[in-house]
Amino acid sequence: MLNRPSIIWRAIAFVAIVCLSLVVLDGWRSWNARSVELGEMDVATSNLARAMAQQADDTFKEADTALLGIVERVEFDGTGPAALKRLHGILVMRRQELPQLDGLFVYDENGNWIINSTSTPLNRFNNADREYFIFHRHDSGPGPHIGVPVISRSSGKWVIPVSRRINKPDGSFGGVVLATVDIDFFKTFYDSLQIGNAGAVALVLNSGVMLIRRPFDVKVIGKSMRGTALYSYYTTQGPVGTAFIKSAQDGVTRLNSYRNLQHYPVFVAAALSKDEILHEWWRDTIWHSAGVLCLVIVVGLFGWHLIRQIELRTTAEAELTKTHASLEKLNGTLERLAMQDGLTGLANRRQFDVTLHNEFSRATRQASALALIMMDVDCFKQYNDIYGHAAGDECLRTISRLIGDLTARRPGDLAARYGGEEIAVLLPNTDVADAVAIADNIRSAIHGLEIEHSGSPAGFVTISAGVDARVPTRDAGEATELILAADKALYEAKKKGRNRVLAARGNLSSSTTA
Ligand code: GH3
Ligand code: MG
Ligand code: MG
Repeated sequence: MLNRPSIIWRAIAFVAIVCLSLVVLDGWRSWNARSVELGEMDVATSNLARAMAQQADDTFKEADTALLGIVERVEFDGTGPAALKRLHGILVMRRQELPQLDGLFVYDENGNWIINSTSTPLNRFNNADREYFIFHRHDSGPGPHIGVPVISRSSGKWVIPVSRRINKPDGSFGGVVLATVDIDFFKTFYDSLQIGNAGAVALVLNSGVMLIRRPFDVKVIGKSMRGTALYSYYTTQGPVGTAFIKSAQDGVTRLNSYRNLQHYPVFVAAALSKDEILHEWWRDTIWHSAGVLCLVIVVGLFGWHLIRQIELRTTAEAELTKTHASLEKLNGTLERLAMQDGLTGLANRRQFDVTLHNEFSRATRQASALALIMMDVDCFKQYNDIYGHAAGDECLRTISRLIGDLTARRPGDLAARYGGEEIAVLLPNTDVADAVAIADNIRSAIHGLEIEHSGSPAGFVTISAGVDARVPTRDAGEATELILAADKALYEAKKKGRNRVLAARGNLSSSTTA
């Protein structure tokens, strides 16, 4: 694997980077979209909480304003029959003006009903046991009080009591004025809000008592919210805030915005379900991811195909190069074999002919001397007869090796098997004297091998050689003349007793013998 060409690795890296970039970019885009979605929802829940707080504040304020007028009247006019008659009229009128009110009531210091806005008989109930009554009896403050929700004794409905204390002229406790706000009034408003299927809103006393909640459940009215995450956020993080909270009521995680009322110890919370907020985002993300996945698969497949093609091409190229190299090697071997003699390893007749022609031409062009030595083993027929053909072959190999060694000193020299036991040596840039010296050197070296030959006068294997050398001129004729001349000299050497070197007649000055 490590030897894979770098182009394949680069292709793999490229495809991987493209796929990874697609995934990372889409992931980044999705994450951004999610943040934007949550940010928008943050704003939406905050606005909702603001609207709810305003509505609740206005609702209580209207009730409280009515109470303030009644308290002022009771404290100023007293509770005589005439004053009460007029007051009853006002109570009924106020009750009709304010749709949120279930009723308006005035109690004496013992909790007995003095007057109300309904037609319920006055002597029927005593509300001294109610939380707001006990509160005002002990708290001399003049401010309004919003009590825990109760079921109205007059109408049987769930109501939120908003009350104020009546002081006697000496400042002692003189009773309570009460406005009961119909919980249905809030329920109708909250039901009209678009908060999705899993959204929730709530109206809670600062003391932690739940006033009303959507989804509406009568069982949670008046329940304590203390200990819930929402309440602890509200009490610890400040009166306005936003937080993801898992609802203690139904276990749904929601984005909650909470906010206190401006004038009353009450806060509201508006919450949208996280799942619903992110529903669209999820759908979008799934579609996008599916698209990116398809794209990655397409790019991956295309890349894989491309890499396969590169791999195939690289392998084919490598094989081609290998084949080319082995073909070249084979060619070289064939060429060598075609130019080499099989038995002796010297150049064969064909190479000799080609080289002779080339060297002769060159010598003609350069006007340089070209020498040829023709050698023939003496009495070789007898050698075969005496020692056998195989020994004759071995003898030829030995002699050839020696001649090859002795003539391979200059690059242009060539020793070739001319035929049978005849060996020719071509020596460019060599005059006859040097050629004779070389030939005689070979002759004496072969003699010096002392290869036994009982059929030869010398007792050992010897050779005879004829030498010719000339500077060919343009009209000097063919190279064959060189061969003929050397051959003739060889013939003369044989005739003169063998184991000797003779130069051609034109070069008679050079003649050597053993
Ligand atoms: P001369 O001294 O006059 O050259 O006598 P010679 O016996 O060598 O005579 P000639 O040159 O006519 O004989 C050549 C002999 O060399 C004939 C043949 O049996 C032998 N010969 C030629 N080629 C080979 C070869 O490749 N292997 C073997 N063993 N013998 C060969
Ligand atoms: Mg011969
Ligand atoms: Mg011979």
